Amino acid sequence: MTLPSELPGWRHVYSGKVRDLYLPAEGPEDRMLVVASDRVSAFDHVLSPGIPGKGELLTRLSLWWFDQLGVPNHLLDGEIPDAVRARTMLTRRLDMLPVECVVRGYLAGSGWAEYQQQGTVCDIPLPTGLRNGDRLPEPLFTPAYKAPLGEHDENISFDRTVDLVGRTRAEGLRDASLDIYRRAADIAEERGLILADTKFEFGVDDEGVLRLADEVLTSDSSRYWDAGAWASGTTPAERMASFDKQIVRDWLAANWDRTGTPPELPTEIVERTAARYRELIDRLTA
Ligand code: ATP
Ligand code: MG
Repeated sequence: MTLPSELPGWRHVYSGKVRDLYLPAEGPEDRMLVVASDRVSAFDHVLSPGIPGKGELLTRLSLWWFDQLGVPNHLLDGEIPDAVRARTMLTRRLDMLPVECVVRGYLAGSGWAEYQQQGTVCDIPLPTGLRNGDRLPEPLFTPAYKAPLGEHDENISFDRTVDLVGRTRAEGLRDASLDIYRRAADIAEERGLILADTKFEFGVDDEGVLRLADEVLTSDSSRYWDAGAWASGTTPAERMASFDKQIVRDWLAANWDRTGTPPELPTEIVERTAARYRELIDRLTA
C-alpha cells in the first residue's frame, strides 16, 4: 500500500481505506486536506494494486457535484500542495454528525437482502413482488450509525437518529438527504444514468450551519447504473450494470475464499474498472 505523501505545511493525521487526511502543521486547525488515493477496497480489505487515476476521478466527481448542487458544503478556496492537487479537496473542518445519511431509490445490495427475508428495507415495509434492482415507490432515507474506527456501520431507525443528534438535526439531515438525492437522480437521469442509492455525510460549522461534507455522489459512495441496460436487461447483472467497483467485487468473490490476504487483482480487472470510472465521469460531466 502506498504511504500518504509528505505535504509541506500539513501534517498527516488519519488514513481511511481510501483517503488520507491532513491538518495544518501550524496555526488553527480549522481546515483540512482530504486526499483521495488510488486505493480500492472491497469486503473491507484494501486491495492491490490500486486503480490508476481513481483518486483524481473521484475528486473531480465530488467537486462537480458540489458545484451542481449549490447547497452549503465543506469546500474552501485556497492553496493545495502541487503534488496532490488533482486528487485533493481543501475543506472546512467540521463537527461531523455520526450518521451516514443513506438514501435508496432502488432495491439493491443489503436492501435487497433484507427485503427478501422480511419484506422491508431498514424496517420500512414495502409492497410485495419487487425484484432485485426495482425502483422503490419513493426514495427512502435509511440512516446508519457511523461506527468508530474499525467497527461496522450499523443501520439505525429514524428514532435512533433523533436520539443521536436531536429532532431538529435529524429532520434536517433527512430532508436535505432526500432533496439532494432527488435532484442528483434527476441530473443523472438526463444523462442516461440511474442513481440507485447513495450515502452523504454532514457536519456543522462554527455558526451552527449544516454543511454537506466528505465525498459526494462518487462511485465509492453511490450505485450508478446504465438506464438503458436497466430498462432492457432481464438478469440482475444486466439491469444493474454498475459504474463502481462491482467488477472488482465479482472477481474477488469468484477467486478468493475471504480468508487471509486477498489475491492481487489481475491487470485486466484493474483496467476495466479504471475504464468504467472514466466512463461515469465522462457521461455525467460531458
Ligand atoms: P473507511 O472509508 O476506511 O471505512 P473512513 O470513512 O473513516 O473509513 P475516509 O472516508 O477515508 O475513511 O475518511 C474521511 C473521514 O473524514 C471520515 O471520517 C469523514 O467523516 C471525515 N470528514 C469528511 N469531511 C470532513 C470535514 N469537512 N470535516 C471533518 N471531517 C470530515
Ligand atoms: Mg468514509
